[in-house]
Amino acid sequence: MSELIKSYAAYNNNTPLAPFAFNQKKMTDKDVMIDILYCGVCHSDIHMSRNEWNWTRYPIVPGHEIVGKVVQVGKKAKKYKLGDIVGVGVYVGACEVCPECKSGNSHYCDQFEGTYNDIPKNSKQPNYGGYSKQIVVNENYVLKVNKKLPLHAVAPLLCAGITTYSPLKYWKVRKGHKVAVVGLGGLGHLAVKFAKAMGATVTVCSTSISKKKDAQKLGATNFLISTEKDFFTKNRNKFDFIVDTLGGQHDYNSYINLLGLNGVYICLSFPQQEIRLSSPFTLIEKRRTVTASKIGSIKETQEMLDFCAKHKIVSDVELISIQKINEAFERMIKGDVKYRFVIDLSSLN
Ligand SMILES: [Zn+2]
Ligand SMILES: [Zn+2]
Repeated sequence: MSELIKSYAAYNNNTPLAPFAFNQKKMTDKDVMIDILYCGVCHSDIHMSRNEWNWTRYPIVPGHEIVGKVVQVGKKAKKYKLGDIVGVGVYVGACEVCPECKSGNSHYCDQFEGTYNDIPKNSKQPNYGGYSKQIVVNENYVLKVNKKLPLHAVAPLLCAGITTYSPLKYWKVRKGHKVAVVGLGGLGHLAVKFAKAMGATVTVCSTSISKKKDAQKLGATNFLISTEKDFFTKNRNKFDFIVDTLGGQHDYNSYINLLGLNGVYICLSFPQQEIRLSSPFTLIEKRRTVTASKIGSIKETQEMLDFCAKHKIVSDVELISIQKINEAFERMIKGDVKYRFVIDLSSLN
């Protein structure tokens, strides 16, 4: 019998996460086994733990912002060796033959296999995520992490980081561009750091003046209070890009009108309900684009991690023990975190 792996799981949609132990999946030749050091806490973890998207399999071990150390490698796994510091993000498998996979976009594959909750081919057990001591992953879905960065602060880059980096890269944000970041939370604070490092002039739009100092510290040149009376008229047609990280329902039309000619509106967070465009002229008037994107490919995630090492970018985090996870969920729902919780897995014994 193999040793049981300790973790924290949600057993159903309305009780707190609690200790759980599972049998590790069998290593295949291409797998690496990783002892988990840190795991970031993503808002998806809350949605999934509570079955808010209606596809949760219980018990569920969340966590897809994983940093750890390689402790075993499969016979045909060549990319990593024992002791390497590595990362695992939101997905650990794809079909590898469809047009999306073949064009380097396996994160859009219909057979996308999530790091937790999804059931791999030829298995009955769902994947268990990073709120645990250990994970086994195919080497092709493992990322190299630069040991010089503070590793606990690297963890959120594996989901929040790539989610913000990928669209900025895709739309070629660079020097001379004016980028507005709406909402300064887990995603927003990384959007500011990335857009700034890519050379853009960054403006943070927030409802709270209390965020001004933080915005400047993160690299924003300008700060605007979005609840001020003339905010939408004064800033009309002003930006090349808007990165919208507000989760709840809000006035999309007014925000889109802040874009100038060929401006791009990047939605990174969504309300549960529909998004309404009040008039097609909101787009037509300035040939504006409204778009969204989903994390990033493995190749792009590696590129993002290398970019972070070069520009010394990490997430601002609050490190917690696994025993504080339920409290962390409650605080995240209130927006009370700067800017991402990260679990120190050494607390799980
Ligand atoms: Zn996530
Ligand atoms: Zn595919």
